[in-house]
Amino acid sequence: MNEVAAAQAKGWRATYFHKLTPAFWGLHVAAIVGVARLGWSWSGLTLALVLYGVRLFFVTGGYHRYFSHRSYKTSRAFQFVLAFGAESTLQKGVLWWSAHHRHHHKMSDKPGDLHSVKQSGFWWAHLGWIMSRDFEDTELGAVKDLARYPELRWLNKYYLVPPLVIAALTFAIGGWFALVWGFVVSSVLAWHGTFTINSLSHVFGTRPYATTDDSRNNALLALITLGEGWHNNHHHYQVAARQGFRWYQFDITYYILRVLAAVGLIWDLHGVPQHILDGTTRATAPASPPSVAVADPVA
Ligand SMILES: [Zn+2]
Ligand SMILES: [Zn+2]
Repeated sequence: MNEVAAAQAKGWRATYFHKLTPAFWGLHVAAIVGVARLGWSWSGLTLALVLYGVRLFFVTGGYHRYFSHRSYKTSRAFQFVLAFGAESTLQKGVLWWSAHHRHHHKMSDKPGDLHSVKQSGFWWAHLGWIMSRDFEDTELGAVKDLARYPELRWLNKYYLVPPLVIAALTFAIGGWFALVWGFVVSSVLAWHGTFTINSLSHVFGTRPYATTDDSRNNALLALITLGEGWHNNHHHYQVAARQGFRWYQFDITYYILRVLAAVGLIWDLHGVPQHILDGTTRATAPASPPSVAVADPVA
């Protein structure tokens, strides 16, 4: 029995209801109660969606495309900003996230993949794996390139600091209204927006590339996740900074990365070679992460 099957065998109570889960469920309840108490508000919804977009970018452009796949380079200072922003979404630490994501690409949809719908079902892929206590540890060996930065190790250990800072800031700036809509509602949306990649992007959509997993391209999920829904593209060629390979495959994360590159905050964005675009190579290379064991991630 692999470690995922062993964790599932403990039952749903052990996965979804243990001493650390009240905060997760509590935030869902707080979102509903908070909105009910404050009353429906279009400006509140706008605030939630704007902060959803900003914070999700740190997950897609930071956790995923930078820390997990190293698809571009940046300074040590901006690397810290990316990690801080991504951790504000309450998806655990930067090293934890990256190590587990690299594991996903290694095992993709095979026994042992931590969040495979095919192997473990929808709810496990969406929520179970991240809530389970069995996968709380960070395998530092999988993120040696990142773990050598003490500030990232610190953030990984104290991963509740960034969300608490953001929560306090929203409250200080806009009171209960900003805290509920800007932090609580946007956090819940950011959770489930991110989780759709694990639960839905390996189930619904098209497969232009014959990858060895079930990854799909899905325009609706790409819209919700700022471009991550072109997931079959991504599994085909993981190191690219863009996941919408075609001009019509909108990729908001990539557009933001282009702006950040234009102002000099990031550079050396990894492109998509023509033979990959053409699908003439059954590309799994470069493997994920790309040469991270030796490359210096920051300038
Ligand atoms: Zn990935
Ligand atoms: Zn995947």
